[in-house]
Amino acid sequence: MVSPLAGIQERRQSTAVLVGDVLIGGSSPIVVQSMTNTDTANVEATVDQVAALARAGSEIVRITVNTIEAAAAVPIIQERLAQKNCTVPLVGDFHFNGHRLLSQHPECAQALSKLRINPGNVGRGSKRDEQFSTLIALACRYEKPVRIGVNWGSLDPELIARMMDENAQRPVPDSASVVTRRALVASALQSAQLAIKLGLSPDKIILSCKVSGVQDLIAVYRDLAQQCDFALHLGLTEAGMGSKGIVASTAAMSILLQEGIGDTIRVSLTPEPGGDRTREVIVAQEILQTMGLRSFTPMVIACPGCGRTTSTYFQVLADRIQSYLREQMPQWRGKHPGVESMNVAVMGCVVNGPGESKHANVGISLPGSGENPVAPVFVDGVKTVTLKGEQIAEQFQDIVQRYVEEKYPA
Ligand code: SF4
Repeated sequence: MVSPLAGIQERRQSTAVLVGDVLIGGSSPIVVQSMTNTDTANVEATVDQVAALARAGSEIVRITVNTIEAAAAVPIIQERLAQKNCTVPLVGDFHFNGHRLLSQHPECAQALSKLRINPGNVGRGSKRDEQFSTLIALACRYEKPVRIGVNWGSLDPELIARMMDENAQRPVPDSASVVTRRALVASALQSAQLAIKLGLSPDKIILSCKVSGVQDLIAVYRDLAQQCDFALHLGLTEAGMGSKGIVASTAAMSILLQEGIGDTIRVSLTPEPGGDRTREVIVAQEILQTMGLRSFTPMVIACPGCGRTTSTYFQVLADRIQSYLREQMPQWRGKHPGVESMNVAVMGCVVNGPGESKHANVGISLPGSGENPVAPVFVDGVKTVTLKGEQIAEQFQDIVQRYVEEKYPA
């Protein structure tokens, strides 16, 4: 039998980094992470959002540390989370004043499991190296790993100016975008080398080079992967809102993941007003799960519907089952090992319904318009019961629950 991962290239060998109790890189599973959008100084809001992200499956959560108040709040946030039994590793995101905040608030450094610093934003001119050195010295003192996160929008202006000048001297200069891509990679690698020189061990370094264009991200990470064996954090920055953000992130990351590149991922979605921040976690999980790289939650296979389905009943049922499965996962995860790889099919009519339902662990084929109003249910490929009447949804949910208890015992 051909492995479902047959088309995926072997994972690039990277140096594993321990972040809290989560291993990133090496041969460990690709880690899903996310970032809060609360004011970190607002302890209550931040604790609630971190807990929600962790509950949704985020294995690491990053928080902004941009002010004295935010730095002072970090240990309190960690303590409150621990009281809620939430031990997700917290990463502090530092720009411009990180050296000062961490020096003045050592308890902030202690509470964090990783520091994220942006070499383009640590300082300007003569201050840059000094402030970068302070940050690395603090990371060494508190034994914290560091993500050196270069970003297209805040690339070191001196580096890019120098590389543009050098390019202009060449007989056939490259385009500005090619030079910028090269500068991103150079900035990440030079900063990593400097950090090592300052005493940070390579197994405490993770790199990222985030850009907002799909083709740029692919080109930059291919280069980065070739030139080093640091663990890589993958993600499109400013991916955008709604379907655009999801599609762009998926398009870029899946190509790199297929090539074995990427040890941890974040999907940077702009939430719709009032939208749920946990969406980025679900999208990241779904990218990895649909590619066959990891399993997080049982998947619902649902047909798109067409002229043969005049009611929206099957859409409602598919949505209800998917929500039910997600809601159950926090308890099922410990109680029913393996349940995350289960497939449930909810199909709209007799054309593909029975066939697709037979391929799933549990499947239901609802009646299309003009069909007999009955819904055969298939369990492990065998038709077990035909549901009808008003309670189809409840009865089907019960069948799924029983299947989980029987097939994935504690
Ligand atoms: S299974 Fe039936 S309802 Fe669903 S898309 Fe196919 S033909 Fe249409």
